[in-house]
Amino acid sequence: MTVKPMKPLKKPQKQVNIEDTESLVCDACGNYTFIKSYFIRRLSPLMSPTGQEAMIPIEVFACGNCGKVPDKMMPTNDS
Ligand SMILES: [Zn+2]
Repeated sequence: MTVKPMKPLKKPQKQVNIEDTESLVCDACGNYTFIKSYFIRRLSPLMSPTGQEAMIPIEVFACGNCGKVPDKMMPTNDS
């Protein structure tokens, strides 16, 4: 399979062969497709630079079948 880019890339990039990649599989149900999902981290007003509560979305991918977020995509917890 040959894929031609529609327009030249601005930065020279190393070509990635799709055959060198591996599919991420849901470790809970074995599903191959993922949907975009968000963790929302709430920032306490006491810790916020603005003194106001803030909601910080962190984009992750969740299994399209069972909704599990792969462990390797979990935002790191400093606890
Ligand atoms: Zn799953």
